[in-house]
Amino acid sequence: MPAPLTPAIEPVGADGFTRRERVWLDQTIKHMAELNDLLAERGSPRRYGIGPEAPPVEPGSETTGLWQVANNAVAWLNATNLPGDHETAMRLMKLAEEAGEVMQAYIGMQGQNPRKGKTHTADDVAAELCDVILTAAVALHQFTDQPAATLDHHMRRVNHRMKQASSDHGN
Ligand SMILES: [Mg+2]
Repeated sequence: MPAPLTPAIEPVGADGFTRRERVWLDQTIKHMAELNDLLAERGSPRRYGIGPEAPPVEPGSETTGLWQVANNAVAWLNATNLPGDHETAMRLMKLAEEAGEVMQAYIGMQGQNPRKGKTHTADDVAAELCDVILTAAVALHQFTDQPAATLDHHMRRVNHRMKQASSDHGN
């Protein structure tokens, strides 16, 4: 009599899933699509998707740092899209799109539209602000070969100006 199939010995297919995992994944995708339909039906801007689990973050790990992720995004875009002024303009436009999403989330957090009510949280606004920072970091690559150093240099200047302004005011 063959040993019962356990998750540990169930064969993994070419797509990286066992049969049972694939069934659960398919069901999850189906339910996610239905959830998105329900959200759309009542006018909520929220949409959900599923993707591979984010890798665990090791303490002190650099792998999820801003510049690492921005560099990866730049490499991905460069490999996919035609380089040139149009692509540069698109990356700048993306910044305006993300800024708009911050506004959308904040309006949703305040429930400013009485028809929709409160659709977002402070976490949503924070996440969109992070998107703005990342998108700016990606766009910055188009205008300097040393984006991290450029930002650092700029921050020093800003900090210096703030210190000066503060001492000018007798603080
Ligand atoms: Mg966003």
